[in-house]
Amino acid sequence: MIIDCHGHYTTAPAPHDEFRQKQIKGLDDPKVMATLVRPEISDDQIRESLEGAQLKLQRARGTDLTIFSPRASAMAHHIGNEETSLTWSRLCNDLIYRVCQLYPENFVGVCQLPQSPGVPPQHSAAELERCVRELGFIGCNLNPDPSGGHWTAPPLYDKSWYPLYEKMVELDVPAMVHVSGSCNPCFHATGAHYINADTTAFMQFIEADLFKDFPTLRFIIPHGGGAVPYHWGRYRGLAEMLKRPPLIEHVMKNVFFDTCVYHQPGIDLLLKVIPIENILFGSEMVGAVRGIDPETGHYFDDTKRYIDGSSLSAADKTRIFEGNARRVYPRIAAKLDTLKG
Ligand SMILES: [Zn+2]
Repeated sequence: MIIDCHGHYTTAPAPHDEFRQKQIKGLDDPKVMATLVRPEISDDQIRESLEGAQLKLQRARGTDLTIFSPRASAMAHHIGNEETSLTWSRLCNDLIYRVCQLYPENFVGVCQLPQSPGVPPQHSAAELERCVRELGFIGCNLNPDPSGGHWTAPPLYDKSWYPLYEKMVELDVPAMVHVSGSCNPCFHATGAHYINADTTAFMQFIEADLFKDFPTLRFIIPHGGGAVPYHWGRYRGLAEMLKRPPLIEHVMKNVFFDTCVYHQPGIDLLLKVIPIENILFGSEMVGAVRGIDPETGHYFDDTKRYIDGSSLSAADKTRIFEGNARRVYPRIAAKLDTLKG
């Protein structure tokens, strides 16, 4: 069983995006807003949107189950207000639910949270609970910067996040730390803003005692942990300077990295530096980098090739492909049992 912990619905049928465009337009035009209705999307449209993309690639690459969430760059929490974000998030999450109903062997859901700049994270707890309890989702994507590149929210260790963490702990679901699009031209969304956010979140976890307060809280930092594995010595040194416990006990019982690193030397470094039990297989396909690497002739985001091509033992590869995901997303076990049953 190969579980890909990081996939987005980047190919959603057109009416879904048309709704969003209309919703945004409606923010300045009450007449447009008055005509906003849930888009009609047929099962066939959903099938079509996946068959030529995520499903085709799953089959071609030999992966089984994708932990699937709404398109991250389109979360755009900075647009509109709390209600805008709630309406859009519910719509996106409901669409993921339909995907998971149509292809229960291929996808399991993770939700988008209805965050909004200046709005307490506590307000996202109800949608998380709905998605987990009613839609069978197993985690969420948490945006540390709902402002979209201006970083106006308090750090992840701030007490204002605690009510949301309490709900995550109660539901026993992890969060992937995942920003959305950037509206700051200094930061390209996938090339800079994403990687910055990954690195930023890790440093925030070092600075505080968040995991003393929440010993079972779990985060996945995507994109291979941003710059962290490459700068592991810097972070170990900073932990010492800041009089924090060693990273392995202070942060790494609660924080996991995925394998969305798009070249073999990068993956080799990740596997060498970060404990194997902290690494989950992920590809982020179809997503950030869609092309074929001219140096290898294979898709940049075909990350299974890099794990296969590493010098890890078969047992360690199995942990990365399956075992670690089962630990970090405990609700996946029930899902897998249903499939077997
Ligand atoms: Zn992503």
